[in-house]
Amino acid sequence: MNVLGYAAPSPAGALEPFTFERRAMRPDDVLIDILYCGVCHTDLHLARNHGGFTTYPIVPGHEIIGRVSQVGEKVSRFKAGDMVGVGCMVDSCQHCKPCLIGWEQDCAEGPTFTYASLDRHDGMPTQGGYSDAIVVTEKFVLALPDRLDPAGAAPLLCAGITTWSPLHRWNVGEGSKVAVIGLGGLGHMALKLAKALGADVTLFTRSPGKEEDAFRLGADHVVLSSDPAQMASAAGRFDVIIDTVPYDHDVNPYMPTLTLEGVLVLVGYMGPLGTAVNAGGVVRGRRAITGSFIGGLAETQQMLDFCGQHGIVSDVEIISINQINQAYERMLKSDVKYRFVIDMASLKS
Ligand code: NAP
Ligand code: ZN
Ligand code: ZN
Repeated sequence: MNVLGYAAPSPAGALEPFTFERRAMRPDDVLIDILYCGVCHTDLHLARNHGGFTTYPIVPGHEIIGRVSQVGEKVSRFKAGDMVGVGCMVDSCQHCKPCLIGWEQDCAEGPTFTYASLDRHDGMPTQGGYSDAIVVTEKFVLALPDRLDPAGAAPLLCAGITTWSPLHRWNVGEGSKVAVIGLGGLGHMALKLAKALGADVTLFTRSPGKEEDAFRLGADHVVLSSDPAQMASAAGRFDVIIDTVPYDHDVNPYMPTLTLEGVLVLVGYMGPLGTAVNAGGVVRGRRAITGSFIGGLAETQQMLDFCGQHGIVSDVEIISINQINQAYERMLKSDVKYRFVIDMASLKS
């Protein structure tokens, strides 16, 4: 079937309307009319070829909320009319060890990403959620809890699960002390989720002026990372730091703020760190630097259900699809409060 979307034609080119082919429905497929799609910094990294592996044209978007319009004959969990979500992956091998333990994101054969992958059955390039419809294998479709506003829920599919997964892995709960570096899409979800889990929450930001929003979003404390006195006052405090910074940065100043056996979890930047890590920062106090990549399907549903119970959605600025290029420029200036979400009805207007 032909669908309409918005694609980047080249690393420097603005996103523009693009018509492309979605595969015909397989027996285990769900066809979804896309209502909203969040704008993740990863979309910008891939559209602009920051990783050096993008093929064009590319239709980004992996924070998808939509309504099921059709299901294949083997689909049992969904029916036409259901509100659903799709995140960063649309398939995986389903038989390797990571897949069998619910870590589809770390599939040994590589998951099929929602965009910038090749379909593992027919080899067609996958294209993302900046479009009016998508076909997804049932296993990779999530149920949207009734209570959640669909536009606000879209960012849960990436920003939500990416920050939930490490909070969950490191047993964050009542009495935990958590810090978040960077108040953007991932960062604001980390504040909300850590607070709802019962933690005492701190924001590290390089941007003066975000304090008031940080407190409203769930922070108990704010530390301006450019102020050495404020950094020194946070010494020895945190069990877990979630680092959402999207570009190369020096992690050494954050290490002394961890408590004994505290962990700094990289979830933002994935390239080589330009400033060498001081081994003393991890040797002393048995601290660790680790990382975390999105989250598995079962864990994503668990996070959505938790958000349903606690009424948690993202703070969104709804845009029309023709504002996407300005949205990318604003994202580069950290001028997002705190996630852009595209109203996909704007594609048809
Ligand atoms: P975002 O909305 O642009 O927020 C990033 C925040 O980081 C900014 O608001 C800013 O916060 C801070 N920041 C930005 N540039 C910085 C710099 N050069 N140095 C220091 N701080 C900086 O981005 P996002 O959508 O949250 O995504 C964050 C990163 O996570 C991206 O690289 C994205 O690709 C990655 N990501 C990873 C996963 C995963 O599975 N691990 C999943 C999704 C996204 P302040 O103004 O408060 O300092
Ligand atoms: Zn993302
Ligand atoms: Zn696998």
